[in-house]
Amino acid sequence: MQFGVLGFPVKHSLSPSIHNLWFKENNIQAQYHLLECEKIEDLESFVASLEEKNFAGVNVTLPYKNAMFEILKAKNYEISETAEILQSVNTVDFRRKIATNTDVYGFLQICKVYEDDHILVVGGGGVASSVIAACQISNSHANITITNRTIEKAQAISENLMCDLYLGDLSKLDLSNFEIIINATSLGLNGEILPLNYNTLRKSTKCYDTIYSPKMTPFLESTKLRGCQVQNGAMMLVHQAAKAFELWHDVKPSIDLGKKAMKEFLI
Ligand code: NDP
Repeated sequence: MQFGVLGFPVKHSLSPSIHNLWFKENNIQAQYHLLECEKIEDLESFVASLEEKNFAGVNVTLPYKNAMFEILKAKNYEISETAEILQSVNTVDFRRKIATNTDVYGFLQICKVYEDDHILVVGGGGVASSVIAACQISNSHANITITNRTIEKAQAISENLMCDLYLGDLSKLDLSNFEIIINATSLGLNGEILPLNYNTLRKSTKCYDTIYSPKMTPFLESTKLRGCQVQNGAMMLVHQAAKAFELWHDVKPSIDLGKKAMKEFLI
């Protein structure tokens, strides 16, 4: 059986390491490939070639989660409710013609939301939508605010997922009202700090970064210094992979083994 992670670029993906450990654990004879499709115009034929080669399933990553949703919808795949709401697919089973988004599940496993929590999500991409959906599933009475550099993208998410929108200067926003702050931008991948008013932060605020490499982003460093509990995106990745694995193989893989594959990124 052939599986893989489809995106561009994918050469640094950790998914093969995680899935290969789980194949061994469960005595599954399968291979997990890196599947690079350079141009979005070629994605449809790339997918058709995977179907022809009898690929069993793929994970989809940047920048194709939305495009994959459109392609599979046109092919009459059964799309999960979550993927349909987010218009974004990260897991495909070609044999059963089903597709879903396990990023939401992944974040849900690492973030517990309490009634009336105030949550700030910074970001306007696919991951921002996924973490907001996860927070809403975790507690439907949470108060979620989204903000993003490109306001139109945050606005579209706030309308789709019915959360509040912050339009002002992020660096001036008073953080003392938030129980949870989530970085769902790529700021931090290369040492950039999320421009927040860190002096207004409360110690009790939980801070999440969806980035896992580097394992401590400047956002996490700064919030940890102020006494906040912090968590990066490594375990979100393990849990989204576990849900995809379960969908493909009807067995729950060991989370501890998944952690082993990610050990250099855990904090
Ligand atoms: P997108 O490319 O869709 O979104 C990127 C986001 O980062 C946008 O909100 C963008 O703002 C913002 N951004 C980028 N550069 C800047 C900048 N200079 N200043 C301000 N904002 C900026 O990415 P995804 O939503 O798919 O992924 C977001 C992050 O999540 C990535 O860093 C990735 O590492 C991580 N991730 C983690 C996963 C996990 O399982 N842990 C899974 C997948 C991704 P704008 O809209 O204005 O361009």
